[in-house]
Amino acid sequence: MPGTERTSQETPRVLIAGGGIGGLATALTLHQIGVPCVVLESVRELRPLGVGINLQPNAVRELYDLGFTSADLDGVGLSIKEWALVGLNGKDIYSEPRGDVAGYNWPQYAVHRGQFHMLLYKAVLDRLGPDAVRLGARVTGYEPLPDGSVAAIVAGPDGTVERVRGALLIGVDGIHSAIRAQVHPDQPPIHWGGAIMWRGTTWAQPVRTGASFVGLGTDRQRMVIYPISQADPESGKAMINWIAEVTVDASEGWQASGWFEQVGIETFAHHFDDWRFDWLDVSALIGGADIAYQNPMIDRDPIPTWRDGSVALLGDAAHAMYPTGSNGASQAIVDARVLGACLLEHGITPVALRAYDERLCGPISEVVLRNRGAGPFGLLSIVDERCGGQFEDIDDVIPHAERAAFMQRYQSAAGFARDVLNAAPATIAPGVRVP
Ligand SMILES: Cc1cc2nc3c(=O)[nH]c(=O)nc-3n(C[C@H](O)[C@H](O)[C@H](O)COP(=O)(O)OP(=O)(O)OC[C@H]3O[C@@H](n4cnc5c(N)ncnc54)[C@H](O)[C@@H]3O)c2cc1C
Repeated sequence: MPGTERTSQETPRVLIAGGGIGGLATALTLHQIGVPCVVLESVRELRPLGVGINLQPNAVRELYDLGFTSADLDGVGLSIKEWALVGLNGKDIYSEPRGDVAGYNWPQYAVHRGQFHMLLYKAVLDRLGPDAVRLGARVTGYEPLPDGSVAAIVAGPDGTVERVRGALLIGVDGIHSAIRAQVHPDQPPIHWGGAIMWRGTTWAQPVRTGASFVGLGTDRQRMVIYPISQADPESGKAMINWIAEVTVDASEGWQASGWFEQVGIETFAHHFDDWRFDWLDVSALIGGADIAYQNPMIDRDPIPTWRDGSVALLGDAAHAMYPTGSNGASQAIVDARVLGACLLEHGITPVALRAYDERLCGPISEVVLRNRGAGPFGLLSIVDERCGGQFEDIDDVIPHAERAAFMQRYQSAAGFARDVLNAAPATIAPGVRVP
């Protein structure tokens, strides 16, 4: 009945607002440690949306600990062997091995976001049962209850409003989070620094190692290219994810209507017309896609806390960041696991949320700001400053040791420094459950 309001009798212990990658990773983690939960997701049907995302070794480790296998991830992407930055002159600025090739105990994966999301969704339905995800349930806010629990205010597609009670509420409702807006009502609007991205996929021959993540161009105009499927054995072609990016004057703000809008290739392909190398034809790559999605590179200013009593934020709701470090989805998965570890330590209590907040909010807010400063792509701005992108031998511009140290600093801050990660104990030990 439109406009009616009722209070739900069900009292699941943890409410998860948002059934994206972070929300489903949270549900799987809570199930693993014996904490009942329900996911409240606004859309009426979860579909395989989006293009490529990266899963860094720290996140792949957590996925393996959740029972996913390399075969599962090979079905939705492929393991990345190299990360490379190439100048507009076609010459290498920096390259390094990635994942297991680089000595990590876990690979790095590039996956199709939608297919990976569906892999998580199926696992949630298989393990938690069909009622674990309530679709068409938009969480518009929350009310702290006198006994210390919380009610999520849930709007149904038919206009009904329901209060769903739980011991805790985890807001995993993405960059436009309603929960975050209530935790921090004075937060500034979304931040945009002037870069516009057009994302798409094209079936084409993978370059370099066949499993390379390549950033090509300059600080203000570049392409990011990586395969997100296994190569077809006959044609050798794979699904190549590409992001074409141009920086413009941001002083007038974002003028287009949408934040993730489908556009025709012709609206931006001209920026890359003459980007042809003997190893890669960028123009042909872009031209080979049917559609592209335009989205401004946006994030949110860090906030001092991700917690309000029995409510905590997770994933993009907590730390929406530029994709320059390829770690937004990875961090959402790691957040879910750290939350699980804190629940194991402190029980299903607000104290656990405080411990989670203390462990992650400060360091990950720094990663948000580092990514705003171009993340690992910051090397391109150093090269631009020193030689305008023109060089014969990159060692004359920025010695190898300086390039490697720059990357090492980024990896440490983002939590996937190899030796630290390899030596760290599991976030959640096998078989442990909340008593
Ligand atoms: C449709 C879609 C496509 C994307 N495509 C890409 C991509 O191609 N490349 C990329 O790098 N990143 C993409 N992202 C973002 C990426 O998935 C996230 O940055 C990352 O995975 C962190 O996950 P998250 O769960 O925090 O957020 P998200 O994956 O954004 O998930 C948030 C979820 O919350 C739901 N939700 C929103 N508001 C409410 C509410 N009020 N109540 C209940 N549920 C709510 C949303 O429907 C969504 O399912 C996409 C996100 C979405 C939603």
